[in-house]
Amino acid sequence: MKMEGRLIIISSPSGGGKGTLIREVRGCLPDLGFSVSHTTRPQRFGEEHGREYYFVPREEFDEMVSGGEFLEYAEVHGNLYGTSLEESRKVAESGKDLIVEIDVQGALQILEKMPDQCVSIFILPPSFEVLEARLTARGTEGQAELRTRLRNAFNEVLQYQRFSYVVVNEDLPTATRQIVSIILAERQCRNRQTEAIQGILNSFGASEHRFIGE
Ligand code: 5GP
Repeated sequence: MKMEGRLIIISSPSGGGKGTLIREVRGCLPDLGFSVSHTTRPQRFGEEHGREYYFVPREEFDEMVSGGEFLEYAEVHGNLYGTSLEESRKVAESGKDLIVEIDVQGALQILEKMPDQCVSIFILPPSFEVLEARLTARGTEGQAELRTRLRNAFNEVLQYQRFSYVVVNEDLPTATRQIVSIILAERQCRNRQTEAIQGILNSFGASEHRFIGE
């Protein structure tokens, strides 16, 4: 896939607060592209098809997998989730940075496929207790589902080592600022500015004759 912008990968255990964080980050950086994932998970109250996710039956998801339509996909807490190539292409071709909120397995798939185009950020909750309290307060899962997500969190937090950046989501405005700073700093990388730099250097080259003989 041809990409001008970077893929900003955000991962965390369920309840790490990445959904809210990403909303805040997109508020600060409106030029950031966002990819809507496909999932076989049942739609929650208040969610909209095409806004939070494309909610699809398992057969349709499997067909997309067979057709090679995903950049990455994974089974998370018993449901399938995936980033479609079509969704990521829309943004990639516009030259924007694209933010994707995915689980660790999906993040590792993308990092392996296109390491140079990715910026990987892991969101850690400040403690297990805070994670449990957030997930419980959210009230979107039943008891069994809640236990699955908390149990899986033990393995998920250990994966922080595979990411370039770690942000602890204790205070929302602070964590938002930290993620925005990472994205802005990444945009200033020398190798992302070669064209702009060349234009500036050309203007110096074109003016050099004024100093000949001095
Ligand atoms: P939830 O059901 O709470 O919306 O999401 C459960 C988990 O699935 C979260 O960790 C979320 O980041 C992850 N997830 C959401 N979309 C994708 C995706 O497109 N690919 C992968 N691999 N994980 C995803």
